[in-house]
Amino acid sequence: MKNIKDYNLEELKKELIDLGEKPFRAEQIFKWIHIDNVTSFDDMSNISLELREKLKKNFTLCIYKIIKKQESVDGTKKYLFDVLDGNAIETVLMDYKHGKSLCVSSQIGCKMGCKFCASTGVEFNRNLTSGEIVEQILAVQRDENIKISNVVFMGIGEPLDNYENVVNAIKIINNPKGLNIGARHISISTSGLVPKIYKLAEENLQCTLSISLHATTNEKRSMMMPVNNAYDIETLLNACKYYIEKTNRRISFEYALAKEKNDNLEDAKRLVKLLKGMICHVNLIPINKIENGEFTKSSNENIIKFRDYLNEHGIVATIRRELGPDIDAACGQLRKKEVKK
Ligand code: SF4
Repeated sequence: MKNIKDYNLEELKKELIDLGEKPFRAEQIFKWIHIDNVTSFDDMSNISLELREKLKKNFTLCIYKIIKKQESVDGTKKYLFDVLDGNAIETVLMDYKHGKSLCVSSQIGCKMGCKFCASTGVEFNRNLTSGEIVEQILAVQRDENIKISNVVFMGIGEPLDNYENVVNAIKIINNPKGLNIGARHISISTSGLVPKIYKLAEENLQCTLSISLHATTNEKRSMMMPVNNAYDIETLLNACKYYIEKTNRRISFEYALAKEKNDNLEDAKRLVKLLKGMICHVNLIPINKIENGEFTKSSNENIIKFRDYLNEHGIVATIRRELGPDIDAACGQLRKKEVKK
């Protein structure tokens, strides 16, 4: 059966026309789904009984079940959702001063094989549909009775490897007649799929692009992230420059600091050289230790030195608050523990 949350408003209008209904019904239904967050077609009280029956026959509402929820002392909450086909995905809710931010997954598993990532070793299973991405937001809003203000595509999966569904999910959650989360409050994080960065630049979306850079030489980056063998640092940064030129949006570079791997002063110097002149921001991430992983967290002293060097040399850099270190906060960790696949 079709998932009604997969459709953006325009597509839903077409679906309603196909069912012999007036397109304005789509707006009412869209509101019930994305604003009222109903869990049953029967709750759509201004929709006729006859249409509700048609909806039930043709669509599902895709309501996730929570398999597990962990809460950190700092308020970060991590969900493991049953996506209704025997698979499970993770979603993380973070509480910031500027609002509630949700880190969503875009795929079940991931093909990219980044060495520092807990999802590595979790075999790629399939892409999430647009509706399955949107439902992560709705399920958390229902569970916590809150409104999510920011969405980051930084959970399990490479969002640009599931390009069409991710872009459509953004259109759905961005719609003022639905969740109405502004594009500037949506961030897509990529390991560096260059052709898709060029494609995204043409979409005219105002979301933030976040690049997982993590190293300053091709040798080191290829060792940490196999995607670098296909698109090296220079090729990636050229795509980033194009994205900035086209969208006029600042790019955020993610740099996970791992002890003795990429955290010395020479790395900081090379990073300054690489990013000089770009409208960007560097987000330094104290790496989470992964079970059996070869990467360990850099010392606090090194992290601060690294940040200060960048700031002193004209690159705006901040250290990301370590969220939920007492729960399994690196992407894929909770899933790995709970799902034996
Ligand atoms: S860091 Fe992201 S892109 Fe890399 S393997 Fe993990 S989930 Fe995939």
